[in-house]
Amino acid sequence: MSDPALYPCFLGPYGENDGLLEKLAVEFLRDHVYWRRNFHPEDPPAIPTHAAQHPEFLAFEARLRRELHSLSAALKRSVPFHSPRYLGHMVSDLALPGLAAQLLTLPYNPNNVSEDAAPVTIDLEIRAGLQLARMLGYCDDPALPECAFGHLTSGGTVANYQALRLALALKAFPVALRAAAPPELALPEDDWAAFNLAPQAGIELLQRWQRWLEGLAPIARRGWLRRVEGERIEQLGMVEFFARHPQLSPPVVLAPVTAHYSWSKGMKLLGLGREQLLQVPECGMRLDPAALADMLARLQAQRRPVLMAVAVLGTTEFGTVDPVHEVVACRDRCAEAGFGFSVHVDAAWGGYLATLFREPDGSLRPLEDMRREFAHFPSADTHAAVAALGRSDSVTVDPHKLGYLPYGAGAFVCRDQRAMPLLVEEADYVFSGEDDGDYFARYRKLGRFILEGSKAGAAAAAVYVTHKVLPLDHAHFGRITGVTIHSTEAFIRRAEEFAGRMAGELRVCVPFAPDSNLVCLALNPEGNRDVATMNAFMRRLHDALRCDPDKAVQAREFYGSMTTLRAEALGEADMARVLEALGLDPATLLPDHEGADRLVILRHTLMNPFLEDSENGISYIARYFDFLAGWVRAALPATRSVSAAAAA
Ligand SMILES: *Cc1c(COP(=O)(O)O)cnc(C)c1O
Repeated sequence: MSDPALYPCFLGPYGENDGLLEKLAVEFLRDHVYWRRNFHPEDPPAIPTHAAQHPEFLAFEARLRRELHSLSAALKRSVPFHSPRYLGHMVSDLALPGLAAQLLTLPYNPNNVSEDAAPVTIDLEIRAGLQLARMLGYCDDPALPECAFGHLTSGGTVANYQALRLALALKAFPVALRAAAPPELALPEDDWAAFNLAPQAGIELLQRWQRWLEGLAPIARRGWLRRVEGERIEQLGMVEFFARHPQLSPPVVLAPVTAHYSWSKGMKLLGLGREQLLQVPECGMRLDPAALADMLARLQAQRRPVLMAVAVLGTTEFGTVDPVHEVVACRDRCAEAGFGFSVHVDAAWGGYLATLFREPDGSLRPLEDMRREFAHFPSADTHAAVAALGRSDSVTVDPHKLGYLPYGAGAFVCRDQRAMPLLVEEADYVFSGEDDGDYFARYRKLGRFILEGSKAGAAAAAVYVTHKVLPLDHAHFGRITGVTIHSTEAFIRRAEEFAGRMAGELRVCVPFAPDSNLVCLALNPEGNRDVATMNAFMRRLHDALRCDPDKAVQAREFYGSMTTLRAEALGEADMARVLEALGLDPATLLPDHEGADRLVILRHTLMNPFLEDSENGISYIARYFDFLAGWVRAALPATRSVSAAAAA
């Protein structure tokens, strides 16, 4: 069902709101030009008024037009993300407030590396971090020392890397402090205890050290600061740091089997290596907390330290939600046993789902309230996972995914900003109190804290303005997220109808209940028992659904994506259930055979807010299943002969 509240939020599948966007674009372009003229109105135009009549100007304009025409023509082969026929990857139409704010800001070209280059948009970025912090259940009051801090990144990949950097800085700092041994500070008794402090205890130690420093004369303070800096892992590098501390070994990171490949990139970049990225087994597509606890007990017995455990809120391939509540409980139990590590939630995809769980006053909505709105959503586990976000140490969330904003907008948010000084370049400013404890003043030199240098202030403006027009709670932004969940529930219902309609021709299976708005679908021709044959069938179907750079986009009825399902992610029991539902012979699932070691399935991201168009009485989801039926009926005779040949 379409929600009238969403009508002004997007340019729209038909470009319905072109008038609004055009009005805004023209208005604010003119406004920008007046601003230029009013800077020093006494400065005359440097480009002469007759310049546009010069032959070279005209030739330039002709070349420019020619190139723009060909660019514009080429872009017509872009993927039509805006359309309700696009059910593929994690992208859809752009939120109109964000698009307008980005267009408005671009000609000012602010650089959010620091306030010198972005006096306005740097504050918008810090505020956008606080908006996200509130959505996640972190403290968002900058007057409180333990307030969260968040900033934008180019995407989730860099945000995840920032989480690794911060966790390592916090883990290794107490070891450096012990090595420098400032007097009168109660320090952990040995390197092992120092390296395995819980993150919160690490922050408290850092606070004590900062207070101690403040009590010293400036010269002594500089001396101590230099001594401790000289012992930090960031100064020494991994090799020298661990050589100096033979009690310790490089820490591992625990992430579920379905974690995004940015974690592997991050481990390589950090210098820990992929070998130190350990996969936590899953059960029913979600991280298995019992297996995590077992792994942690084994690691502690082997004295292998843990940097971080990652929980995923909305996996990239399946949209499933890990039990964040169990993971933070595990962290707290381990911390009590002297085996501290941090918990990061990779919510690059699912972060904005939290909008549905928030009241406008920032409190969490009870499960029963939400259940009245949906048929099945959220599961008790999903509700508990979102409720536990506020207890994680840091979170990645991508405004350019479920935030409906233009690319170049990921975000990293940490629960307690007091760890952030550990990431700063030029440490001598850090503890000098030059920011007088003012939250905004501290982060206006943003470039010192983040991986990137120059970065787009326009992206920050887009995120901030979107969150202001559509606050991150169920009554505002959550209206959009809510529609996507309704679409998901409609998709499941129609998948069941489709299964009934195709009985005798095709086996249809939704392999696992979705936690979010991403649904997978497995199809197998009736009578086929062979995994490789089904996979070939599904790949051909996917060929009909994917972007083909050589074809006009109109040649596609629908866009979808595919993924694969492995027993490692689903668990043996669930895999057996799925094979059975599809009529497949388990003996044909061959772990070492390419093409038969997993199931190829379709993956649908149901982000478009107009999938169920009540204005025209069209369900694009129903049409999609009609399309699938037509495709399958056309393809079946060929498939039959292949599987008959395979059987013979
Ligand atoms: C998309 C995604 C990432 C990577 O984010 P980018 O913005 O593509 O860099 C990381 N983790 C998860 C779970 C994701 O879905």
